[in-house]
Amino acid sequence: MKVTLALLAVLAAPVETSAPYAEAAGRILEAERTDGQAWAILQHLTDRIGPRLSGSPGAEASVVWTLERLRSWGLDARTEPVIVPRWVRGIETAEVVAPVSQRLVVTALGGSDPTPPGGVTAEVVEVRGFDELKSRGEAVRGKIVLFNRAMRAGFGGPEGYGSVASLRTRGAIEAAKLGAVATLLRSIGTASLRTPHTGLMNYEEGVPRIPGAAVSAEDADLLHRLLASGEPVRVRLELTCRSEPDVPSANVVADLRGREKPEDVVLIGAHLDSWDLGTGAIDDGAGVAMVMETLRLLKALGLRPRRTLRGVLFMNEENGLRGAIAYAERHKDALARHVVAIEADSGAARPTGFGVSAGPGGLERVREIARLLEPLGATEVTPGGGGADISRLRPAGVPLLGLLLDPTRYFDYHHSPADTLDKVDPAELARGTAALAVMAYALAEMPDVLPRLEPAPREAR
Ligand SMILES: [Zn+2]
Repeated sequence: MKVTLALLAVLAAPVETSAPYAEAAGRILEAERTDGQAWAILQHLTDRIGPRLSGSPGAEASVVWTLERLRSWGLDARTEPVIVPRWVRGIETAEVVAPVSQRLVVTALGGSDPTPPGGVTAEVVEVRGFDELKSRGEAVRGKIVLFNRAMRAGFGGPEGYGSVASLRTRGAIEAAKLGAVATLLRSIGTASLRTPHTGLMNYEEGVPRIPGAAVSAEDADLLHRLLASGEPVRVRLELTCRSEPDVPSANVVADLRGREKPEDVVLIGAHLDSWDLGTGAIDDGAGVAMVMETLRLLKALGLRPRRTLRGVLFMNEENGLRGAIAYAERHKDALARHVVAIEADSGAARPTGFGVSAGPGGLERVREIARLLEPLGATEVTPGGGGADISRLRPAGVPLLGLLLDPTRYFDYHHSPADTLDKVDPAELARGTAALAVMAYALAEMPDVLPRLEPAPREAR
């Protein structure tokens, strides 16, 4: 190749990745600001359908309704079968029976076995984490273990969600190994009006299955103060929750077919199911609304990108990830043509940008596109992105993005009865939707694709 000065100048100039989509982005931002329907979608999901725990009538109603809406907008939409676990909450009560009598506000952790009829009554042993639990050794036998470590803020960091989530998922396993009869977990959240926060707990083959409940932060503090007096503190816990046989359900998949490369897929995903205590507004009705509205809006604006833009409303993110597993399995031969996947599962607050997991140079490409999101203040692009549902595409090397939203209030409501529509600001939801729509459109339209990740062996769950 003959290298001219002109060519050298072109090569040296910064690539304006975002420039070709500026006009489309402007139209998307304006349309979503003035005429967006994300709020109406979210309102129907939360107020009219309500809680959507896998296998429940609400979850099934959400499949039927979202499919119908997507089709009504002229999108190519269908369901794909997923077999899901079905867990049903029952009566849940707890009280201190000695040295005083006090009611406790509790809620069963998802997947918990019931207590024996009449409940379990035992002395409480308080620990902050697994190291302290193990150091107690024999003292735990026959007791109810209270995991009492406060979460302060955010997803990461020493006092973030990541630092306490394992107490919920593995607490009953580790406590049962030492002979405990039940667990109480200080609710994982950053605010409380004596609101308990649920979430998934697991059992392990060969380890006794003991019941697990979350207790409100206020009641965890009460137990702590009573224990500090040195007297034995006894609690009675009764749960009648139960697991039923698996039931058929579905992911909802909708395509805006690409005009040049329809086999290349840009996936945008969120999860249809929610915990049962609230109505799943921020987790993850908001993500569902953003994904559906992105497809509706691009279709309505006549913005049909080069590649196929596919919305996937995953079932069973919260207590099994079965929808994510089923999607990755069903489409395994097509994953090489999945050029990127974006997940919207971090609430409904104002967008701040995207987290990115891609091959070398991918972060910079996304950062260029994110310049279009300046009017939204959503230009922050950070390494490490994705989400639970699209993580199943990681082994195939699919670049993964996570929509980032202001996390400040997310864990105030997460998995609690307070996860309801009133926690969502319609203008912030519209901005999050616009950020997702612009990013998805640009990634589906750009001439080339993001560098893929190194294919990896499937990671253990
Ligand atoms: Zn979620």
